[in-house]
Amino acid sequence: MNPVKSLKAQKNQLGEAAFQLQVLQDTERLGRTLPTFESQLKAQGLFPLIPTTLDIFQINVGKMCNQVCTHCHVDAGPDRKEIMTQETMQQCIDVLAKFPFKSVDLTGGAPEMNPHFRWFIEEIRRVQPDIQIIVRCNLTIIRANKKYYDLPEFFRQHRIEVVSSLPFYTATRTDAQRGDGVFEDSIKALQMLNEVGYGREGTGLTLNLVYNPAGAFLPTNQAGLEKEFKKSLKTKYDIDFNSLFAITNIPISRFLDHLLISGKYGDYMETLVTAYNPEAAEQVMCRNSLSISWDGFLYDCDFNQMLELKVDTSNQHISNFDYQALVSRQIQVNQHCFGCTASAGSSCRGTVAHN
Ligand code: SF4
Ligand code: SF4
Repeated sequence: MNPVKSLKAQKNQLGEAAFQLQVLQDTERLGRTLPTFESQLKAQGLFPLIPTTLDIFQINVGKMCNQVCTHCHVDAGPDRKEIMTQETMQQCIDVLAKFPFKSVDLTGGAPEMNPHFRWFIEEIRRVQPDIQIIVRCNLTIIRANKKYYDLPEFFRQHRIEVVSSLPFYTATRTDAQRGDGVFEDSIKALQMLNEVGYGREGTGLTLNLVYNPAGAFLPTNQAGLEKEFKKSLKTKYDIDFNSLFAITNIPISRFLDHLLISGKYGDYMETLVTAYNPEAAEQVMCRNSLSISWDGFLYDCDFNQMLELKVDTSNQHISNFDYQALVSRQIQVNQHCFGCTASAGSSCRGTVAHN
């Protein structure tokens, strides 16, 4: 059953980053002894974890969302009011104009709900005409209000890569995770994206989907899932898309709440630890990316952002951007990081290794 409010609005302790970190450190709650993520990295000579480069600039433009999904690591929802200001966006643009990032990845909440969203994209394109711009669109926002109906056309005009969550190709499983009616609206939104050319062969307009497991288990093989999704969506709804990214649920925020309530926390952590893959650890996404929060602070990734673990450098805000310090920083790791290194690994672009 979907929550109607964020953990924060419910005044649930897990709405606080400090409490989540306390839970992740609490060995008694696990009911067993598991190694720390740090010790796993040490065993393969990868600690301290440092970046290999800075390619991806991921900006979380706000926690407001039209949905309240059960697994959301942002604890987003309509009741969240944290939104990036135009001033902070300008500071991001100034950094993007100056440093050689390859990709800008806009996420939220529903990033399109930020009132400056379109202006922001136009400005990024102006200062970096060829940079890859990704928007993590939840699909239903396109159908939520008339003012969003033209988003597919806006995305097309600005050569945006669209990445959208669709937990499964059936209504039952998708709605269970994302809310009643979400599957039907998502299908309509995907058809609207296809209509302007997204996902269709030869258009160069990329539409990728994101799958995540419905419960406390690891995703199955990404390539196999992609085939299943493609076959089902094409046959039933004439929908095309490019790639499917299979991602692992990270044990923080609302998914952590689910694990604790269902009594599966210890088992899930053990599953992640047992499936630790050194090849995936080498490729974790924090090694080539940086995450910026709605209020302009810098983090190693969107998960560390939600845990309020800022980058380990003296300048931690976009207004004081120090490229050299950031590219040589030590990445902050904790037990949730096992979610990125289990089996074939997990990143914002799906798996990172062989399993
Ligand atoms: S659509 Fe995304 S940001 Fe919004 S509640 Fe769902 S998972 Fe969170
Ligand atoms: S959770 Fe973040 S910091 Fe930890 S391994 Fe994953 S990307 Fe890196």
